[in-house]
Amino acid sequence: MESSVRVRFAPSPTGYLHIGGLRTALYGYLVARSHGGRFILRIEDTDQARFVGDAEEDIADCLAWTGLTPDEGPSVGGEAGPYRQSERKDIYRAYADRLLASGHAYYAFDTPAELEAMRSGPEAAVGYDSAHRMRMCNSLTLSASEVEARLARGDAHVIRLRTPEKGSVGFEDQVRGRVEIPVSSIDDQVLVKSDGMPTYHLANVVDDHLMGITHVIRGEEWLSSTPKHILLYEALGWRPPVMAHLPLILSPGGGKLSKRHAERQGIPVSVRQYRSAGYEPEALVNFLAFLGWNPGTDAEVFSLEELAQAFTLERVGTSGARFSLEKLNWFNQQHLRRLQPGEFLLRLRPTLDRCGLVASDEYILRVAALVGERIHRTEDMATTYMYFFSDPESYDEKGVRRRWKADSPHLVAAYAQSLATAEPFAEAELEAALRSIAAQEGVGAGRLIHPVRLAVSGTTAGPSLFSMLEVLGRDTCVRRLERALATIDA
Ligand code: GLU
Repeated sequence: MESSVRVRFAPSPTGYLHIGGLRTALYGYLVARSHGGRFILRIEDTDQARFVGDAEEDIADCLAWTGLTPDEGPSVGGEAGPYRQSERKDIYRAYADRLLASGHAYYAFDTPAELEAMRSGPEAAVGYDSAHRMRMCNSLTLSASEVEARLARGDAHVIRLRTPEKGSVGFEDQVRGRVEIPVSSIDDQVLVKSDGMPTYHLANVVDDHLMGITHVIRGEEWLSSTPKHILLYEALGWRPPVMAHLPLILSPGGGKLSKRHAERQGIPVSVRQYRSAGYEPEALVNFLAFLGWNPGTDAEVFSLEELAQAFTLERVGTSGARFSLEKLNWFNQQHLRRLQPGEFLLRLRPTLDRCGLVASDEYILRVAALVGERIHRTEDMATTYMYFFSDPESYDEKGVRRRWKADSPHLVAAYAQSLATAEPFAEAELEAALRSIAAQEGVGAGRLIHPVRLAVSGTTAGPSLFSMLEVLGRDTCVRRLERALATIDA
């Protein structure tokens, strides 16, 4: 049965979806799913100046790609819509008016110069707060008729929240426990800007309430906004939702993973970069789930459904979670291993197509059976295992120095000859043929195995030589051995 739990993911479309944003979406999705509730996408686009044209589309694509499909949102609709704040402008004004009428908010007419003077004057204020507002130009200091005249004239103004003079604001954070902030450290937040648009704070609280949101799950960077939101809930007479602030994502060396930091360390920041780098969505989701949470057991590889079964906010930690590309690669390998052959093939195809590598499904599956376990990313097929699809263009130099001996041309030529007639062209027969040449020539099998591997693959490492030869097939093997004989000794 569907529960009343409603969790929203509320990104601002100011850029492509960031991995930190995807983690927030994931944790929200998991809380919703684990309670049998609903996951809602709300686009917070009131700040038109910071708006990026295709960001909303990118957010939707990334959520669809990772399987975090919203039950309600701009494209699916729902009873609590519209789900874009830019389409809800009229709604917010009524609540600002309500706060003005109850004395919880006031008009402020200060000019930019006056605000600047407040911050830099002899009695510089940290912010526009209860200690300073009585020195400023607002409806608390001007007469009612003056305020009315200014409003009638259309003087530029904002609406601010009137923070209480004394006491503190507190709330129970599901991750961090009790958070208590003295009101003296809280500004009189702007709720409606001079262009009539609501700020994040007003729109966020009004929407969370009207949309019946039960859990607000977001990054730690929003923690300092929450006391302001609690004041708003109180002023509007609403019960605040459950709050949970997720730990920061740290760079591998510690320290906040800023965009600049990440780029310097070769860590992509936007989800779409992981997608185009060939990461599997299941792996990215699994990896992000563990950036701040753990199941309390040794288990690490989880599908989205399994995560929804295991996830609880109680197991989200407060200390920052370190990002590690190695760990992500490991998750990627684990999830590739979990795929059924048909699905594995589907994941591999785009990479092969992009690299212009042509092969039948059957052939790819045979290669996959041989090296699938070793692959960290589908990309590896077109790099490390490229030789399954095209003849090597060069031979590992160190390998040649170490493995290509004076007798290699003679031995490899003899093997090429026996491969031309080996029947059937199968692992056991190919091995027997090699061992018999080695015995005849009075050398160890390794004297043949290494140069043959080098000749057919260009490298010194790889899966079992004879299975590899079987998969490559007679013509390819003979051609490559001959080519190596002509090239390496030339
Ligand atoms: N629009 C905010 C953001 O971009 C939402 C923060 C919140 O979840 O309240 O992250």
